[in-house]
Amino acid sequence: MGWPVVLGLFEAVLLGCFSLVACLTPWCQGERSAARRALLLIVPWPIGFALAFLLVLPLRPLLSLAVAGASLVVSGLLFIPGRRPQGIRILGPQPRVDERDLIFSRAHLRPGSERYRNYYARRPAFKEKDERWRTLPPLGTPGGRYFHPLLSRLPTACFSHLKALHPTVTGQVSSEQVKLPREEFTRLLKGVAHYLGVDLVGIAPLEEAYLYSHVGRGGDYGRPIELPHRWAVVLGVEMDWRAVQQAPTAISLSESARQYARVGQAALILAGWLRALGYPARAHIDGCYRLLVVPLAWEAGLGELGRLGCLLTPEFGPRVRWAAVSTDAPLQPDRPRAFGVQELCRRCRKCADSCPAGAIPSGEKELVRGVEKWVMDGDKCFFVWRKFGTDCGLCLRACPLSRPPLLWERLLRWALPRSAAARALFLAWDRLLYPARYTPLARPSDLPPWG
Ligand code: SF4
Ligand code: SF4
Repeated sequence: MGWPVVLGLFEAVLLGCFSLVACLTPWCQGERSAARRALLLIVPWPIGFALAFLLVLPLRPLLSLAVAGASLVVSGLLFIPGRRPQGIRILGPQPRVDERDLIFSRAHLRPGSERYRNYYARRPAFKEKDERWRTLPPLGTPGGRYFHPLLSRLPTACFSHLKALHPTVTGQVSSEQVKLPREEFTRLLKGVAHYLGVDLVGIAPLEEAYLYSHVGRGGDYGRPIELPHRWAVVLGVEMDWRAVQQAPTAISLSESARQYARVGQAALILAGWLRALGYPARAHIDGCYRLLVVPLAWEAGLGELGRLGCLLTPEFGPRVRWAAVSTDAPLQPDRPRAFGVQELCRRCRKCADSCPAGAIPSGEKELVRGVEKWVMDGDKCFFVWRKFGTDCGLCLRACPLSRPPLLWERLLRWALPRSAAARALFLAWDRLLYPARYTPLARPSDLPPWG
């Protein structure tokens, strides 16, 4: 047996294994149509190679060399580090955000109340927009397109549970302080956060720009915010992919609420533990934040802001729910990281194409409050939420980084921060197999995927 035969047999086995893994990847992700496309588009290649190799004898050396060369080029492009990707750019001062202006705060204003009158007297520009979605039923109530008589009550139960815990975000600090070196304390705190069930944890300096200027929800509405803590410990938990695949139904909304509850509980316990060790600490959980979690999560090196307006993490893409603990404990901060999101989003636009509200820009970034970023229109988005009766989430479902990085995609995702070719290949892979855009279901699904 000459070298072309040995090499050719080896390559045939390798190509066969690769196509099997390539077809299994979307299948394991629950993306059945992509798995079928993979079967049609990828499997013929190793079969064609094997047939040509067996039947056309004079071509054997040429074929085996061509495949070896192509494999070397692709591996080189994936594994040889290239230019470092550019991350988020801060180009000017970042004025503080008033929480009262957020759509979620405006949604809590009761028409006819004094708070309502005062707010729109100060901010008349929002009045007309807000009256449009006020004509639609609130989330999780009958009348929304995806209202489900059983499941739509689950998110409300989760958020009510969290609301009942709001008074416990702060508490008495122990007079006896446990002292540890900074590095050791940081390692221990991160370990405890993971032990409490958190998937992602990072530490950022708590700069004033990342504090809301005024409270926008709850009993302290309108109070100016002062928070002298030095650090923000940012906590993230993964949303279940099977539930996100059900967006925009009550199932995906339930998952969102469940994860806010999960990460909120962890933040409350972590803050209580820090206070018991003698350090001031406050938990920031859904409905009771005093700080902007997304930019802090970026500062803490947990991800990058993407086109869809959420933080994209290397592990779960945008499929994450966040909480934080601010504290003065002796900690070591993490640093922002770039893993290629800006370049991916510049070329991808899948979330923008899938957004039923047209809320996600498909053009270039803008400079807003000192940060160069894509600006999602929260008002348009919220209008669709009210129409659907859920938090929509189609952009989360569409984002290629949301998919669990299994098998072949695990290798691609590993290479994303390291190589521009890997980013191009990742997008090409996505375009080849997965839908170009995701559309809302015609009717709500009846059962959760685990039911
Ligand atoms: S949640 Fe839905 S409406 Fe809002 S930005 Fe995402 S896709 Fe658009
Ligand atoms: S769908 Fe594409 S453009 Fe949108 S956030 Fe994800 S990677 Fe970026």
